[in-house]
Amino acid sequence: MELFDLIVIGGGPGGYEAAAIGSAQGLKVALIERDELGGTCLNRGCIPTKTFCRTAQIAQDTRDAASFGVNPGGLHVDMARVVERKNEVVGQLREGVRLAVGKTVVRKGVARMAGPHTVGVSDPEHPDFAEELYSAPKIIIATGSTSAILPIPGAEKAITSTEALDLDRVPAKMVIIGGGVIGLEFASIFSAFGAEVTVVEYLKEVLPVVDRDVAKRLRTALSKRGVSFVLGAEVKEIAEATHGEFPGMLSVRYEAKGKPGEATGEKVLMAVGRRPVIPADADTAGQIAVGRRGIEVDDNFMTNVEGVYAIGDCNGRCLLAHAASAQARCVMGEKVNMDVMPSAVFTIPECASVGLTEEQAKAASLDYKSCKAFFRANGKAVAMGEDEGLVKILVNKGDGKILGAHICGPHAADLIAEISLAMANGLTAADIVDTIHAHPSLPEVIPAALAH
Ligand code: NAD
Repeated sequence: MELFDLIVIGGGPGGYEAAAIGSAQGLKVALIERDELGGTCLNRGCIPTKTFCRTAQIAQDTRDAASFGVNPGGLHVDMARVVERKNEVVGQLREGVRLAVGKTVVRKGVARMAGPHTVGVSDPEHPDFAEELYSAPKIIIATGSTSAILPIPGAEKAITSTEALDLDRVPAKMVIIGGGVIGLEFASIFSAFGAEVTVVEYLKEVLPVVDRDVAKRLRTALSKRGVSFVLGAEVKEIAEATHGEFPGMLSVRYEAKGKPGEATGEKVLMAVGRRPVIPADADTAGQIAVGRRGIEVDDNFMTNVEGVYAIGDCNGRCLLAHAASAQARCVMGEKVNMDVMPSAVFTIPECASVGLTEEQAKAASLDYKSCKAFFRANGKAVAMGEDEGLVKILVNKGDGKILGAHICGPHAADLIAEISLAMANGLTAADIVDTIHAHPSLPEVIPAALAH
């Protein structure tokens, strides 16, 4: 049995942040990872999709080029190069993670809980090697999540976001089951690449957790670019299409408004949420309470076992990479404001949110005003030719503080940072309006919304 001060299970944004802080604090840290450092975010999620988003933006710009006075010739997306570039970007950033974890002992292997404070590590590539046992007074479980798969006939015919990042060519037609964050990001990407995309969503509107105004506007913007939506549709099965344009064409059969329907595609992407990954024997030998959403934790992210924590997707609280890192910092004793958690959807146009949605403000009977400004009145956005969308900021009438903000438009993910900073520091709408913003710039849209 090898003793450490801290054992971290999982090398994603939660796990590697915790290991990096522990190592910098001079602790003897072990980080156990079965795959590559960086987790879903770096290897199969945020970063790879952002490389695809960049190509999608270039493809979109190429399509629009003539209206800017540029004639680039035909559009061809070479998936082999897109995937190669993605791998280059991931490789470069993985090196950064390796440096960040400092003196941490990084052990490649699969961890299980062998006791409340003991972790067993085995190596699936060398099953003959005996399991090694590690022990520490502090253990952080940061094992992330995996794609949820609908229990329907033919589900195995669908791909997940992981496989969608390694396709060898752009499918002519693609069906995406689920109009959440992943579904819409891939709809935006593959539609810009030239695929005919249909999104089949169970609810009446896409992006269930986003402010309704923003979700509707994004759906309209994607529709204009050729993405088809079937809303209120319950998917029943995935089968070989009987009348496909290509051999091996798949049919997604659903029921909408009581009537059967189908959408066909060369590829079907399943994006119906993610489920937590829990280390084996967590609830038995580890004595850790596991609920429906994941490992149960208190407000300090500690499980029911003293000294054992669960952070990131595996506790099911907030499935965002930066939430996992913030939880890691919190568990490692740093002061973090967990109340303000921005999020973004990397579509064309982007969407971003922080704080309450209007629906939540109404449900809480808050006395607020909804302040809006449109990108079509922002000089920089109009000059860029990206003037669709809006900023909507909810301001508390009593003290002028910001309750929430929702942006659909160019660089929304960057623009939300100013509002997050204001919210985290209790600034008022007047504080933002009184701050001079450079002209012409996209951030001017924020005081423009708040000025009236
Ligand atoms: P999600 O929960 O955002 O969306 C899943 C969607 O699938 C929902 O709209 C849901 O109504 C729909 N759905 C569920 N069952 C269905 C069915 N039977 N038929 C049709 N539709 C069905 O989940 P996701 O998009 O898979 O993303 C998973 C998690 O990862 C989310 O929590 C998300 O926040 C996170 N994520 C974040 C980012 C980002 O921050 N940019 C990017 C990717 C993923």
